Amino acid sequence: MKIAIVGAGAMGSVYAGLLAGAGHEVWAIDRWAGHVEAIRERGLRVEGASGDRTVRIGATTDPAEAGEADLVVLATKAMDVSAAAGAARPLLGPETLVLSIQNGLGGPDAAAAVLGDERVVVGVAGGFGASLVAPGHVHHNGFELVRLGERSGPVTPRIESVAEVWRGAGFTVRTYDDVDRLVWEKLVCNVAFSGTCSVLGRTIGEVLADEHAWSVASRCAVEAHEVARALGIGLDFGDAVAHVRAFGEAIPGAKPSMLLDLEAGRPTEIDFINGAIPREGARAGVPAPFNETVSALVRALEQGTIDAVLERLRVALHAHRVTLRRDFPGDYAFPVTVEALGAGVGSLRDERTVDLRTQPVVALLQGGEQVVQDDTRGAFDDPSFHRMLETYGGLAAQIVTPIFADDRLEAIISVHVLGEPRAWSADDTAACRRAAARVRGLL
Ligand code: NAD
Repeated sequence: MKIAIVGAGAMGSVYAGLLAGAGHEVWAIDRWAGHVEAIRERGLRVEGASGDRTVRIGATTDPAEAGEADLVVLATKAMDVSAAAGAARPLLGPETLVLSIQNGLGGPDAAAAVLGDERVVVGVAGGFGASLVAPGHVHHNGFELVRLGERSGPVTPRIESVAEVWRGAGFTVRTYDDVDRLVWEKLVCNVAFSGTCSVLGRTIGEVLADEHAWSVASRCAVEAHEVARALGIGLDFGDAVAHVRAFGEAIPGAKPSMLLDLEAGRPTEIDFINGAIPREGARAGVPAPFNETVSALVRALEQGTIDAVLERLRVALHAHRVTLRRDFPGDYAFPVTVEALGAGVGSLRDERTVDLRTQPVVALLQGGEQVVQDDTRGAFDDPSFHRMLETYGGLAAQIVTPIFADDRLEAIISVHVLGEPRAWSADDTAACRRAAARVRGLL
């Protein structure tokens, strides 16, 4: 079977390594060029509970290079599913099945909204403890269970055949007739520990051992259980507190990936895990104040890093790249990115035909105006700039937002779209201004 893994991060790489080890043709597709390069050069190394192997597989940042696959696995974080599904289109033939496999609520729905209801099926993985050690190298502590099901209705032959492929690669797989049970079974455990460990910066065992921390964690789980019950979702356990305690006691040293994301300054899946409970609770008339509070605190921590603000903006605008530029080297008042001035794009520095400072956009930025370009290719009357656009991966549309401090242009935020022009909306430009205001407070 030809399998394309879109989002070959920690989990995606484990899937890719084991499925390739079972003899399938596997492509790892990720927007992280360094990881893709490493896999192309040295293969993908997967070590941990399943053994230690290095597999030679296809790897690319461009789904078109992989071509049509039989199975596409969307293994990004929940907030990236929509963009990943859009990028996955070149991988789809008439019969291609798409497995969206995330924690929390909403990933598969986001995929179905982009790719249609028919081809998307649902997965949830548990007990892997996977992390990237280095580009091209992933480690996982376990590989307990992969849950699979249709988005609605009972197990079908196509779910059974996907399950067989994964079992054949060494995974333990359970198929579900009821997608809500599939998702909520894991969600109740995630809800207990993700938010609380993240707010406190503690491992699961440390939260279990502290009666105050545990009272918050267990209330989060109880609320999720109550919401599930009110929505008519049947779960395997009657006592949520005992269930999540047993879950946590098996992995006391673990840090939930939400905490790892916060520590690394990355956006978290809070809106899809604890944040989903008050949302679903409102539908069922069940309040969820513990989850609401914990979610608000995680969001506050998340906003606390510039990288997270920029990454959230990139995700919200489905952009390819968002950069913050604080230095304007040489005589370049025009805030091109560091990459554009770097090796390989010497043309701008060395062969400049126009003083970019005289371009109207620079005056706009210096005057505090946002520059909104639906099609950058027509925006500059300068051959060297056009060479830069090409070398720089085909920059096609951008929003550049200035940040002022003490009446000086202090920094700019550039949102870049590569390949095709983009008609920006008022919401897009407003999101950039909000992000700029937050970053200004963090500089
Ligand atoms: P990760 O951040 O390590 O990997 C996600 C990858 O997706 C990244 O490499 C990123 O570059 C890539 N990506 C994002 N958008 C993309 C796009 N548009 N196109 C191509 N690639 C894109 O995340 P992870 O830890 O592997 O988690 C994936 C999902 O699995 C999450 O929902 C997580 O909660 C869940 N999960 C993780 C673990 C674990 O042990 N890490 C265990 C169980 C479940």
